[in-house]
Amino acid sequence: MYGGIEAGGTKFICAVSDQGEIIEKISVPTTTPNETLALVFDFFDQYELEAMGIGSFGPIGVDPTNERYGYVLATPKKGWKNYDFLGSIKERYDIPVAWTTDVNATAYGELLKGAAQGKNSCLYLTVGTGIGGGVVLNGEIFSGSAHPEMGHIMVKRHPDDDYEGTCPYHKDCLEGLAAGPSIEARTGIKGQDLPEDHPVWDIQAFYLAQALVNYSLTLAPEKIILGGGVMNQGHLLQKVREQFTTLMAGYMETPPVEEYIVQWGIPNESGIIGSLLLAEKVHQEK
Ligand code: ADP
Ligand code: ZN
Repeated sequence: MYGGIEAGGTKFICAVSDQGEIIEKISVPTTTPNETLALVFDFFDQYELEAMGIGSFGPIGVDPTNERYGYVLATPKKGWKNYDFLGSIKERYDIPVAWTTDVNATAYGELLKGAAQGKNSCLYLTVGTGIGGGVVLNGEIFSGSAHPEMGHIMVKRHPDDDYEGTCPYHKDCLEGLAAGPSIEARTGIKGQDLPEDHPVWDIQAFYLAQALVNYSLTLAPEKIILGGGVMNQGHLLQKVREQFTTLMAGYMETPPVEEYIVQWGIPNESGIIGSLLLAEKVHQEK
């Protein structure tokens, strides 16, 4: 049996799998580390786990040679900043634990069971309250001394956009210009309530397409998978594909754009499924 945690800023989803099937799943609110982990332990204590996988909100320490490996780093979430999350889990359960970001776990889940099945690589990008991305290359999660922060790349401005941007660090990085809150800040209306013919969607698609061009040029994944609340707008996906084709201008060969840039295959589930699959992977590698 394997345990998986998709640790989000508002809730933790915990699940146990046996022979590839999820046999139990719960959701607990993210409050303080002590409170939340007490509920997490109550759940997992019921099982004899062989390994666990954690996909966590971040930023997190992912470099095993760094003393803050396994820590949650500069989060505004009260009590979690510099918290040794992985250490607390390992103290309770003396088993192998796979540790990565929520978006990396989602990319892994999508690669093995979702929209990128049969591929060796994929990139997952969530467009919601923030923008974040994860990458799996040759079946392995891509990581350096830190995990990628794909939401904070710089993009060129749309000529009709003078919105300053919401990012507290950069103002007009990708996340500052294209995450859900920027749509609401420009229009005064939440994305889910905006009509499809509103001009802001073209602006949105322009920024997202630039990001996907940049990721394609630097990482060359076999598939790009989009998820998150904003991508519930089906028409936006088509606009992103069109702008991607225009901006790439035929320079790099990618698969046909309808196959290359797609919606996630297991909406809202790929994160926990990926975490469980990472538990299985770390178990087999031990
Ligand atoms: P989070 O990123 O916090 O996990 P979501 O992925 O649901 O949560 O993203 C929330 C953001 O997505 C909000 O800014 C919200 O306005 C926007 N959003 C949610 N649903 C839609 C929708 N159907 N169309 C456009 N924007 C949406
Ligand atoms: Zn930023």
